[in-house]
Amino acid sequence: MFIHRSALLCDECGENEVIALGMSGKEDDGDSNEWPQYSQGSESDSPDHCDNCGDLLYEVTLTDDGREAVALCLISGMHDETLACEWSDHADLPNPGVDHDWNLDAVRAWADNLGTAVEALETFEEAYMGQYDSEEDWAVQYVEDTGMLSNVGELAMYFDYKAFARDCQLGGDMTFLTCGLGVFAFSNY
Ligand SMILES: [Zn+2]
Repeated sequence: MFIHRSALLCDECGENEVIALGMSGKEDDGDSNEWPQYSQGSESDSPDHCDNCGDLLYEVTLTDDGREAVALCLISGMHDETLACEWSDHADLPNPGVDHDWNLDAVRAWADNLGTAVEALETFEEAYMGQYDSEEDWAVQYVEDTGMLSNVGELAMYFDYKAFARDCQLGGDMTFLTCGLGVFAFSNY
C-alpha cells in the first residue's frame, strides 16, 4: 500500500492545466511521475472534488467504505443541500433529509441497529412504521389498521396487545427501538 497526494482536477480544469503545462496533445504515459495522470477507473473512500473548481468528480468510483462514509454524512444531516444531493446521487443512495424528509432520528436509530448506514438508507422506507408511545401503542394501531380482530366481536377486549407486540419482536417480525418519547417501530419484512 502507498499513499499518494496530488491535486485532483475535473476534466475541464485538467485540460486547462495540461495546456498551461505545455503538454497538450501528449499521451498519458501511464503510472509515472510525469503528470497529469488520468483518473479513469480509480476509486476512493470518500467523494472527491476538483481542487480547482470544487466540482464533484463523478468518474471516481466510491468503494464500499466510500458509500458508507457518504451514508453516515447523509444520516447525520448535511446542511449543504446541493452537496447532499450530489453525494447521494454519486453513491446511489436515498437522500433522507431533502428528497424524502425522513425522520433522521429514526434513520440513525435504524443504522445503529443494523450496524451500517448504507443498509439503513436502502431499507428505511420499507421498514419504518412510525413513532409510537410504546410497543403496545403500535400493536393497537396495527390491529386496528389490519382489522385482525374485526370478526371476534366483544372478545377483542381480551386481546393482549402488549404480548402481541412482544411476540412480534421475539419472532423477528418487528424491531422496536427506544427513542426519547417512545419507540420507533420497524417491520423486518
Ligand atoms: Zn474543476
